[in-house]
Amino acid sequence: MATIHYNTLSFHDKGEHLQVNLLRLFYAEIPKEEVEKIAKFSIPDQNTIEFAKIDQEKAETKFSFLLAKYFDHLKNKLTGNSVTYIHKNSGIPLIGNVAFGIVYRNSSIIEIKPVTSCNLDCVYCSISEGLSSTKHDFVVEKDYLVQELQKVIDFAAEPVEIHIGVQGEPFLYADMENLFADLQAIENVHTISIDTNGTLLNKEMIDRIAKYDKLQLNLSLDAIDEEKAKLIAGTKSYNVKHVKEVIAYASKKLKVIVAPVLTQGYNEEEMEKIIQFIKSLEVKPILGIQNFLKYKTGRIPAEEISWDKFYALLEAWEKKYDIKLKLNKDDFNIRKTKDLPKPFQEGEIVSAVLKCPDRFSNSSIGAAKDRNISIPGCPFKQDKVVRVKILRDKHNIFVGRTV
Ligand code: SF4
Repeated sequence: MATIHYNTLSFHDKGEHLQVNLLRLFYAEIPKEEVEKIAKFSIPDQNTIEFAKIDQEKAETKFSFLLAKYFDHLKNKLTGNSVTYIHKNSGIPLIGNVAFGIVYRNSSIIEIKPVTSCNLDCVYCSISEGLSSTKHDFVVEKDYLVQELQKVIDFAAEPVEIHIGVQGEPFLYADMENLFADLQAIENVHTISIDTNGTLLNKEMIDRIAKYDKLQLNLSLDAIDEEKAKLIAGTKSYNVKHVKEVIAYASKKLKVIVAPVLTQGYNEEEMEKIIQFIKSLEVKPILGIQNFLKYKTGRIPAEEISWDKFYALLEAWEKKYDIKLKLNKDDFNIRKTKDLPKPFQEGEIVSAVLKCPDRFSNSSIGAAKDRNISIPGCPFKQDKVVRVKILRDKHNIFVGRTV
C-alpha cells in the first residue's frame, strides 16, 4: 500500500471525478478511472490518498504525473477562471511580471504576490479584479516564493519591508499564515505589510497572526452606510459591519492603516463618517485616504478629483477633526536600494520559452535568463521557443513582442 499526504492539496469524491483542491481556492477534476489505473484508491482523510497493492515510490511518481496533467486545467472556484500553479519545478521564474512573484523596484519595499483573484468586485478597482474578472490567475508555491525572495533580500543586503500587495485579496491564499511565519523569521525583514479588504479576517485569525510583530495590515473601508459600501464593493455579500469589527479588533493587536478610496459620486459624504468611526475606536489606526485614479486596466466609475481639491478636502477634515490625514513618503520609510541587474534591456531580442498564459487572453509568459516576460498578442503553446523584442524593462518588469 502507498499513502501520500499533502498539506496544500485536499481531495473530494465527486462521483465520476476526483476533485483535487489546491490551496482551497483552486481545483482540478481527474476522472476516477485515470486514478484507478495507478491502483485501487481511497481517501482516508481529505489531505491523504491511499493506493492499494503498489509500492510507495511508484505510486508517488504516477500520481504526480497525473496531477501535473490535470493541473494544466486548474480552475478558480470563485470565477471559474483558468489558473497556473507556479512552483519550484514549473520552470517559471518569479521576477518579471507585476501580477505574481517578486517585484523589486530598487527600493526598500519589496513586493510579493503569491496569488491573483478577489472575492469583491470594487467599482474603482485599478486592476479590474474580482468576481467578474475573466483573467487568467496565478498561485505561487509558498516555499518557492520564500526561497526566491531570500535571494533578493540577500542582494539588497539591508533591512527591507516586504509588501504583500496582490492583484486581488491576499487572504484567499490559503498558505498566508505560513508565509507570515517564514517572513517574520527573516532577519533583514523589518516590516511585513499587506493590503486587504478585511472580509476574510476574523477575531480568531487576528489573534493567531498578532504574534507576527512585523505585520502591518492596510485595510480598505470605503463607506459606513451599508448600501453604499455594497455598491462600492460591487457585491451584495459585502458586510461593512464585519469589516468595521475587524478594524476595531485588529487595531488593538497590530499596526493598522485604514485606506479608503475617495471616489467622486460614490463616497464623498462617507469620508467624514469614516473619520468619526476611526476616532471612536479605543486604539486608533492610521487613516490614509486615497484619491481615486484612473488606470488603463482599471474600472473607471467616475472622474478623478483634482489633487488641489483632494488636498483641500484633507486639510479641511484635518482641521475639523484634529486628525492627521496627509501621509507622505517619510510615513512609509522608503529608501533607495541597490539596482537589481537586468539580464536584458529594452530593444534587445531574446529567445524565450513559453511557460503559461498571461493574465489577458491571447498573451503568454515566456521564461529567459531567470526572468519572465509578458508577451501580449502571443497565443500560448507549452514550451514553444519564441524570439521576443523587449519593449519594457523598468524595474525588471519585462514586456515584449514576438519578432
Ligand atoms: S478588494 Fe481590491 S483587488 Fe478586490 S476588487 Fe476591490 S480593489 Fe480590486
